[in-house]
Amino acid sequence: MRFKPSLLVIAALGSALFSTAEVFADEVNIYSARQEELIKPLLDNFSRDTGITVNLITGKPDELISRLASEGRNSPADLLISTDVGRLYRAKTQGVLQSISSAALSSAIPEELRDPAGQWYGLTMRARPIMYVPGKVKPEELSTYANLADPKWRGRICVRSSDNIYNQSMIAGLIAHKGAADAEQWVKGLVANFARPPSGGDRDQISAAANGVCDIAIANTYYLGGMLADPKQRATAEKVKVFWPDQDGKGTHINISGAGVAAHAPNKANAVRLLEYMVSQQAQQWYAETNHEYPVVAGVQASDLLQQMGEFKADKLNMDKLGELNGEAIRVMDRAGWR
Ligand code: FE
Repeated sequence: MRFKPSLLVIAALGSALFSTAEVFADEVNIYSARQEELIKPLLDNFSRDTGITVNLITGKPDELISRLASEGRNSPADLLISTDVGRLYRAKTQGVLQSISSAALSSAIPEELRDPAGQWYGLTMRARPIMYVPGKVKPEELSTYANLADPKWRGRICVRSSDNIYNQSMIAGLIAHKGAADAEQWVKGLVANFARPPSGGDRDQISAAANGVCDIAIANTYYLGGMLADPKQRATAEKVKVFWPDQDGKGTHINISGAGVAAHAPNKANAVRLLEYMVSQQAQQWYAETNHEYPVVAGVQASDLLQQMGEFKADKLNMDKLGELNGEAIRVMDRAGWR
C-alpha cells in the first residue's frame, strides 16, 4: 500500500509546488468488499494498460463504509466496490460517495442498474430465482414468488435468515411492486412453508434441497454456478434445477455488484477511468465469469454455465428502490416472523 500520507498533507496545504493531480496522477486506491481473487487480475490488467498503480484494501462492506465515513476528507479511497445494491445505497446515504457523470458508463450500463444520481454503478448482475428438486417438484407447479406462500409448499422451502441483505433486497423489491401490506402477507405465508428455521448461507440451502431437507431453495445464481464448477460440489448442485419466477409479470428478482467513486477521492479521474474500464467488453467478460455472474453490458455473453440455467426476464425495477426500501423490508420480515 502506498498512500503517501506526507504528500496528502502537502496537497491539503495547497502547496504551489505540487498540484493534487500531479501528485496522484498515477494511482487509484480501492476499498473493496469483494474478495481479492474476484478482482485482482482485472485490476492488474488495468494497471498494465494504463500505467496507473492500483492499491487495494479489502474488507467487510459495512466496515469499509464506516471507515470511509470516519476518515472523511482525509480518506485515501477513490473507489468503493461492493456487492448488493442495499450496501451501495447505504454508502450513498452516508455521504461517502459522490456523483459522477460519464457518457461511457451511462451508455454501457442499463438505467435500472445504476444510481439515478450517478453515485454507484452496477458492474455485474446476479439473480435470485427458485431452485427446485426435479422428481419432487414439477416445474409446472411453480410460477411466481407469490406462489411460494401457497399452503401446498408447507414444510418444503429452504431459505437463509432475514438478516441477510439478499433477502432484504428481495423483499424490498416485493414492497416496491405490491406494497408493504401485501409483502407482509406473502412473507407470513413463506415463513409458514419453511422446512426448517433459517440457517447457513445460500449454498447451504441448495445442499439442503439436494439432500432431501426441502424441495425448494431460494438462492443467488452464482452460488449454484460456483457449486457446479466445483468438482467436489457438482453432484450436489446437479440435483437442483433453476426455475425463473414471474416470467409473465414483473420478472425475476436480480441484484448487482457495483462501485462508486468515494466522496473525497484524491484520484477521481483515475477512479472514473477504472469504472469505465470495468464496463469494457473484455473486462465484463472476465469479471462476470470469475464469480459466475451476468455481465451488465448488452452484447457480452454470459458464461456457458449460466447460459445452461436458461434465459430469463429480469425485474426492471431501478435497483435504487431496493436500497430505499431496505428498512421497510427488515420491518416487514420482522413482523412476519422471518428470523
Ligand atoms: Fe454472496
